Amino acid sequence: MFNALVLNQEGKATIAAVTQIDESQLPQGDVLVAVDRSSLNYKDGLAVTGKGKIIRNFPMVPGIDFAGTVIESADERFTAGQQVILTGWGVGERHWGGMAEKARVKADWLVPMPQQCDADKAMAIGTAGLTAMLCVQALIDGGVTTDSGEVLVTGASGGVGSVAVTVLSKLGYNVAALTGRVDQNGELLKQLGATTVLERSELEADGRPLEKGRWAGVVDTVGNTVLANALAQTDYNGVVAACGLAGGFALPTTVMPFILRNVRLQGIDSVMCPVAVRQQAWDKLIELLPESFYTQATETIDLAQVPQYAEAITNGQVTGRVIVKM
Ligand code: NAP
Repeated sequence: MFNALVLNQEGKATIAAVTQIDESQLPQGDVLVAVDRSSLNYKDGLAVTGKGKIIRNFPMVPGIDFAGTVIESADERFTAGQQVILTGWGVGERHWGGMAEKARVKADWLVPMPQQCDADKAMAIGTAGLTAMLCVQALIDGGVTTDSGEVLVTGASGGVGSVAVTVLSKLGYNVAALTGRVDQNGELLKQLGATTVLERSELEADGRPLEKGRWAGVVDTVGNTVLANALAQTDYNGVVAACGLAGGFALPTTVMPFILRNVRLQGIDSVMCPVAVRQQAWDKLIELLPESFYTQATETIDLAQVPQYAEAITNGQVTGRVIVKM
């Protein structure tokens, strides 16, 4: 028997409790992993609190990410003792996830632990960090260089935002960090590499279809009017990578930025991202993130604290990344 956070539905409420489960209860899969660390993402927050329709079948073990050691594998790509990472693929949503001491998953979903990485670092990064790297890569692929101008990161003190600020700054970009918590997190965002820290309210009100161009590129985790205003303020040929909906899933915009400024809006999904792209992104993250990121922008909790932190992350009250220790 081992510990798992198990979600059940009672009426319309989602109930989360640390429960003892047996290996025989784990779903089918070709690799059994001893989970060392999981992490808490915004989506986990929605799943654990039941605030978002993330989970369709109960009981469910949440946790869209984990890092651990292979116990046994029916797939020749993985061997007992090997360290692995999993993010996405519907794990922790449709298939039992990482918030348990053991997980059984498909070999296709696993990435071997990159060199110079360990379970703590991997989960300090997690889905949020991987998504941040995919956003940054989209800006690079779209031709945004360090000479193009300032890059805006929205929801900057969150998981995706804090990694995006750090990575962009490491690559030499001038980064403007947009946050609703300037007083609380302004200093941290500067330490992570932001050159400017902006109040979220500057981009939250309904804006005009086109405004003065300010951004060569944007990493947006917020959506809604913030994304609409960011688009309206993006320079000619600029690229906006949209990955999140922390401020809502609406997009109240017009075609003006696209047809008059040649702006590119690139959607980013990390869940179904191909393995080869993931591996490149992981290698880049390990190369770029300084040791200081792991100490400044992470905290570690245990399984029993997950419900409390899930509530906090859905209320925009978590800073940086939360690692869950088994
Ligand atoms: P997170 O740690 O909670 O960060 C979100 C940040 O957004 C918060 O820290 C806060 O930053 C800001 N925020 C919160 N509520 C807001 C509101 N009502 N209006 C405007 N801003 C608000 O979450 P995360 O794990 O980084 O995820 C961020 C977003 O990206 C989520 O929507 C998540 O679903 C999405 N995501 C998508 C993918 C993908 O594959 N597409 C992968 C990972 C995450 P400040 O306090 O600094 O403003």
